Amino acid sequence: MYVGVRLTDMRWPYGIVRKLPHIFVSRDHRATGLESLFIDDMEIEFAGAAREVTGSCHIVRVNGKTILLDCGLFQGHRSDAEMKNRSLPCPIDQIDAVVLSHAHLDHSGRLPFLVNHGFSKSIHATKATADLCVIMLADSAHIQESDFEFLNRHGRTVSPPLYGLRDAARVDELMQRHAYEEWFDVCAGVRARFFDAGHILGSASVVLERTSGADASRLIFSGDIGRAGLPIIRDPAPPADAADVVIMESTYGNRDHESVASSREHLGRVVRETAARGGRILIPAFAVGRTQELVYDLQVLSRENAIPPIPIFIDSPLATAATGVFEQNTDVFDRTEGPVREIERLFQFERVTYTSSTEESKKLNTRVGPMILIAGSGMVEGGRILHHLLNGASNPRNTILIVGFQAENTLGRRIVERRPVIRVLGTEVELRATVDIINGYSAHADRTELVEWIGAVRRTSPKLRQVYLVHGEAAAQEALAGTLGSQSYAVTCPVLHDRISF
Ligand SMILES: [Zn+2]
Repeated sequence: MYVGVRLTDMRWPYGIVRKLPHIFVSRDHRATGLESLFIDDMEIEFAGAAREVTGSCHIVRVNGKTILLDCGLFQGHRSDAEMKNRSLPCPIDQIDAVVLSHAHLDHSGRLPFLVNHGFSKSIHATKATADLCVIMLADSAHIQESDFEFLNRHGRTVSPPLYGLRDAARVDELMQRHAYEEWFDVCAGVRARFFDAGHILGSASVVLERTSGADASRLIFSGDIGRAGLPIIRDPAPPADAADVVIMESTYGNRDHESVASSREHLGRVVRETAARGGRILIPAFAVGRTQELVYDLQVLSRENAIPPIPIFIDSPLATAATGVFEQNTDVFDRTEGPVREIERLFQFERVTYTSSTEESKKLNTRVGPMILIAGSGMVEGGRILHHLLNGASNPRNTILIVGFQAENTLGRRIVERRPVIRVLGTEVELRATVDIINGYSAHADRTELVEWIGAVRRTSPKLRQVYLVHGEAAAQEALAGTLGSQSYAVTCPVLHDRISF
């Protein structure tokens, strides 16, 4: 809330006009212009991931400065996402800094779009997040450029890419890399620090603190919250600073997952059963994080002789590059895990092949015998997995193994729903392969873990006023809001462009 004083013409009785001081209150400091007298307020505008799971972006206005928390891509229903992706969260010249929670595209994927529109200020992130962004944003730009070129060549009228490779590279030049838990200045009178969110390599929850004024006010943004016990990644560390307000994700607010330990067993069982049928295990997986966790578990299962010695192909150049980034950031691995301490090369062993060229990828289709094939994209919206599904989804010997969240309106969701026919690369394919789902690999906290995370934040936050739930579909948000409400939290599920201040 902003309070200002303005000299306003007041019509007195008998028609006399006088200038009188008029105190006013506005929810938008831009509306008050130079007349604003800023008081000690922070304003948050929810500019993405509001009652949905993609497009994470929250605009924080404080001390006359504007900070973006994340600037992610909207994914899913094409025309709606396209429209949202093409509009800037706010005018570029108003943005003083970006603070990034993690590298997933639904959190970072519009940063090159900002740069393309002239943004040239700092982007703050952990080192591993910034390193991952280099490859993920370049990949995103490359896909957009080649899709555009392909569709254009086939006479389709399509909008130009949101950004190109040059914009993605420029994002890296603006990156300020920070260690976990170290305070850094975001802009005048505002500092921040990162805590490990335990979600993917480099992921963070953000503490944003207004340091000017008598009373420091603090906002905690959860980012995406991970899980205890995930392979490689450390357990989530809820921020230790007292918060006034929390913005919290709610992806799995309405359900609990399989345990992480049972996921490895489940994976082993699927591999054994499918190999016995002579089939392929096709795994659509996010190139960053999920793929490395699967390779790690497959190595552990192989060492235990719990799976037959069939070849494993990682058919994703992005996953190969991401594995390189993992190998350069081992300092943030979870050293409490035996294999992390004991195995020298977690992602390389004799049965694993990382393919690179399209020719190598195509050759896999003519290969006979059981195999494990991991390829992107994670929600089956693009990438090499499409070619493998076109070939393999109708073969009842094969298994399509789903190991990640599948948003509404994605092909991955239709596979989870076991639709009898799916449309792959414009072709109708009968879905006759077995579909199996392992939820335990989820990098997102489940209902119980979300409640534990906010419980830890509340214990260190005696003045906690409000929890705003973001990054969740309606059913998940309503369920979590109900659970937290029954534990006497003040909870709100904001809609897009809602503004609050505190
Ligand atoms: Zn994420």
